[in-house]
Amino acid sequence: MNPLQAATGLVFEEPLLWERGRNGRTGFSMPRRDVEETPLPQELSVEPPDLPELSEVDLVRHYVRLSQWNVAVDTAMYPLGSCTMKYNPKTNERQAALPGFALAHPLLPESLCQGALELIAALECLLAEITGLDAVTLQPGAGAQGELAGMLIFHAYHRRRGRVRSKILVPDTAHGTNPASAALCGYTAVPVASGGRGILEPQAVAALMDEQTAGIMLTNPNTLGLFEEHVAEIARIVHEKGGLVYGDGANMNAVLGRVDMGRIGVDVLHLNLHKTFSTPHGGGGPGAGPLCVKRELEPFLPVPRVVHREGRFAWSEDFPLSIGKLQAFWGNFGVLVRAYSYILSMGAANLEQASRLAVLNANYLRVGLREHYAPAHDRPCMHECVFSDARQRPLGVTTLDIAKRLMDYGFHPPTVYFPLVVPGALMIEPTETESKEMLDLFLAAMAAIAREAREDPERLRTAPTRCLRRRLDEVAAARKPTLTGRPPSAP
Ligand SMILES: *Cc1c(COP(=O)(O)O)cnc(C)c1O
Repeated sequence: MNPLQAATGLVFEEPLLWERGRNGRTGFSMPRRDVEETPLPQELSVEPPDLPELSEVDLVRHYVRLSQWNVAVDTAMYPLGSCTMKYNPKTNERQAALPGFALAHPLLPESLCQGALELIAALECLLAEITGLDAVTLQPGAGAQGELAGMLIFHAYHRRRGRVRSKILVPDTAHGTNPASAALCGYTAVPVASGGRGILEPQAVAALMDEQTAGIMLTNPNTLGLFEEHVAEIARIVHEKGGLVYGDGANMNAVLGRVDMGRIGVDVLHLNLHKTFSTPHGGGGPGAGPLCVKRELEPFLPVPRVVHREGRFAWSEDFPLSIGKLQAFWGNFGVLVRAYSYILSMGAANLEQASRLAVLNANYLRVGLREHYAPAHDRPCMHECVFSDARQRPLGVTTLDIAKRLMDYGFHPPTVYFPLVVPGALMIEPTETESKEMLDLFLAAMAAIAREAREDPERLRTAPTRCLRRRLDEVAAARKPTLTGRPPSAP
């Protein structure tokens, strides 16, 4: 180990725990033995696993240092389009840490966890109210699992009517999980091209919708950040042929309190609590992708479901048409508590206001950026705006270079090369939680990068230069990933 590394607080190259460990060092103290020593039975005495031995302080410093290398919503603006990286209010963490929630064992008898079951039932009601649908399951552990549940429900619904349908319509702007979920259920995903205005045209759907097609998966607003204006007409076309309409509600942050998904013809919709409802994403904790359905589809929802009888909450498996179980125990319960806390602390008026501000912020960036970058569609957007590198490509600068250079300016890059219908896409979602000053800083960084592309393109091609790591070989990283750290002694 480099002696300097041991002495400085800000270490920018962190040894593996194996390199820090010393034989016999421990992170805990055992109380003094007050019984006779007894040897372990022979069959239990095995070689201990080869793990580093460390003190508590070694371990804490290692992980805190690694955590400081991460960009997170708690350290900087994080404008990843479609991911809705809004701030995670700390009051949510306080509610989730209440012992009655945090320590509730999933095998507790119902009589001892009435509060937790009530929270599940109440959150289901709130999400039904917010979406305009009738019944909700909180089981799915992510948006993609919500989609899978939705496709299983499509299949169960058609089978109940004695129909076999093999196809699902999926617009070309859809998130990759949509065709993947359809395929996982055995459906063939049939792509529908969006029209020149970036939204679906009813004629394109009418031309493909037939009686072998189970329905359509629609994202509204779509991944170009545009509202699907013809959704009611499209729903009518699909319903007329006996199909169902799936709404991908990952982008609900744009339309809370403003669009009634049930009334515009959506039959099944998933929400991402880790996007719209402010719960942490990915490494910050598991997600949740509740699924909301129309009354007619309620019998197919996953079991067990929370029911309310004779003044008590209880789990029930008594839904014979159910698609079955998707998650162990109560789903990602800690996430549900955080989302419930968010909804109650905001209230209906503030949820609606959050959507208005998310849309305002995205349009502020859209107008501020179009002088420097080519917009995918030059008209008002919803919660996110999409640009491309069309003006920079002739200078030999691509979306990847722009994204890497943003890191030098202290910003997490936006989503890049998605949606696929926009070559070299830069998809930017500021969310409602950024201030005008922060948005102005982002605009200034993007303007500086556009200038550098004209005056010093090489600087962008070699970015990032101010980060711990330089440009990685992305092909090698994808083809030959090294996913484990080996103790240095191992070959
Ligand atoms: C994020 C997202 C999904 C998938 O949600 P996960 O929780 O990541 O599985 C699906 N559709 C859209 C439009 C999304 O933005």
